[in-house]
Amino acid sequence: MAMKTYAIAAIPGDGIGPEVVDAGVEVLEAVAKRDGGFAVRVDRFDWGGDYYKKHGRMMPENGRDLIRKHDAILFGSAGHPDIPDHITLWGLRLAICQPFDQYANVRPTRVLPGITSPLRAVNGHELDWVIVRENSEGEYAGVGGRVHRGSPLEAATDVAMFTRAGVERIMRFAFRLARSRPRKFLTVVTKSNAQRHAMVMWDEIAAQIAAEFPDVKWDKMLVDAMTMRMVMRPQTLDTIVATNLHADILSDLAAALAGSLGIAPTANLNPERAFPSMFEPIHGSAFDIMGKGIANPIGTFWSSVMMLEHLGEPKAAARLMRGIEMVTADRRFHTPDLGGVARTADVTTAVLDAIHGANV
Ligand code: ATP
Repeated sequence: MAMKTYAIAAIPGDGIGPEVVDAGVEVLEAVAKRDGGFAVRVDRFDWGGDYYKKHGRMMPENGRDLIRKHDAILFGSAGHPDIPDHITLWGLRLAICQPFDQYANVRPTRVLPGITSPLRAVNGHELDWVIVRENSEGEYAGVGGRVHRGSPLEAATDVAMFTRAGVERIMRFAFRLARSRPRKFLTVVTKSNAQRHAMVMWDEIAAQIAAEFPDVKWDKMLVDAMTMRMVMRPQTLDTIVATNLHADILSDLAAALAGSLGIAPTANLNPERAFPSMFEPIHGSAFDIMGKGIANPIGTFWSSVMMLEHLGEPKAAARLMRGIEMVTADRRFHTPDLGGVARTADVTTAVLDAIHGANV
């Protein structure tokens, strides 16, 4: 039988994006080789801020067609000090996420071995969450407008738009994910006390979908109270589902509680697999450390683990995750964001060694 080859579209983007994506590609290729059962073919697309400066757009007009047939996308970061954030965001990341219907954004959060959480006495057992973010509508649906610019009558709206189909599919995805985890427990984040329309529908649909999953326990939290629970009682949470805006904020809090922005991964999934899904570290372009060789690549490595799981290579995914944990457990391989002096290349080499090691 011919060996399976996965086509990966790598979009390194801006800032430290290329540094961490190069490291991620090296690790992916190594784990594929070590596993032996599959190979990866990586095509690189140099889209982002520099591309914008040359061409006036973040990616070519037919950009999506160039990556539509790939099995997965590995994304670095888009953002440039000279280009407004809404252009870099809507011009590349969202220009891929939305048409490719990557409606489930999944963010695992764990305190990895060797990493210190700012929460006293919290370890990997007490903080082990997966946040599911609705990634296609809600507050970031892009509905709204601005009129009478510059005049005292100027007005602007951003309308949060929720559809029954959109809420049903994200709830079903979240309940299914909760069911696949040992605790089978889902927390639905809401704000239905203050927002009386869409958030009330959100709650109703959650209850309705819950009935399809009698083996999953669930509860409901107002988003403001949720921030307190994440800090004060992290062990009472497992799988979490929230709207686009709420989950955006909560997942940054989660990343900070887990020790560093440089570690946290995310997957933008099209669960139906009609389009490729996209995997990326949650950090941004971090221009302050660009080119210094000290970016933490762990967030990209962990994103690669999620990619391997999605591609259906659980053995390789588990091997890479064990390699990552062996490396974070060793302080010699901590980059400056974790209080260490290691460089991107040191961490990458250590993970490659771990992958090749007999005990991983
Ligand atoms: P963007 O505008 O693209 O979101 P940003 O620089 O405003 O980018 P982040 O990139 O998320 O925001 O980073 C915030 C800070 O965290 C940076 O100044 C950087 O020093 C640090 N940081 C982020 N990611 C990493 C990483 N992978 N390794 C080390 N430090 C990081």
